[in-house]
Amino acid sequence: MTASLPDSDTDAGTRNRDLRLMDAALEQAHAAAASGEAPVGAILYDPDTDSIVARAHNRPIGLCDPTAHSEILALRAGAELRGNYRLNGLWLYATLEPCAMCAGAMSHARIGRLIFGASDPKGGAVLHGPLLFEQPTCHWRPAITFGLRETEAATLLRDFFRARRKPGAQW
Ligand SMILES: [Zn+2]
Repeated sequence: MTASLPDSDTDAGTRNRDLRLMDAALEQAHAAAASGEAPVGAILYDPDTDSIVARAHNRPIGLCDPTAHSEILALRAGAELRGNYRLNGLWLYATLEPCAMCAGAMSHARIGRLIFGASDPKGGAVLHGPLLFEQPTCHWRPAITFGLRETEAATLLRDFFRARRKPGAQW
């Protein structure tokens, strides 16, 4: 794990806003679980207008799409709304540490800030594995905050996969 990734933007107002938006991302994660998808949610947010641009949850099973992670779906919705694949200035909240695909997409979209909840040693690419934003080939790196509502996000995932492993489970 890297010890870098500082975040200077941690005043009380920002933290309260982060918690509120992470709660919205957690609502999406619950919706994912309810539809049998891995419980991960994402919110795309515009700090200039204090508005949520897109809400999404994991849907690879439902959409038959291996790229349908919550972050990708939120980025796609935001780009379509803006009519621009660049999403400069927008912030992305995710309940779980993004994978390499999603972190790469955030870099391409020039997301200004990434806020995530639980870390993911198995599949994450921000604090773990590829450390994508720290690679010299990564040309855009958002400001990063992590650990918000991490217990809630991690518990949701653990309970979901525990239920899946139960004998007789349908998933
Ligand atoms: Zn992903």
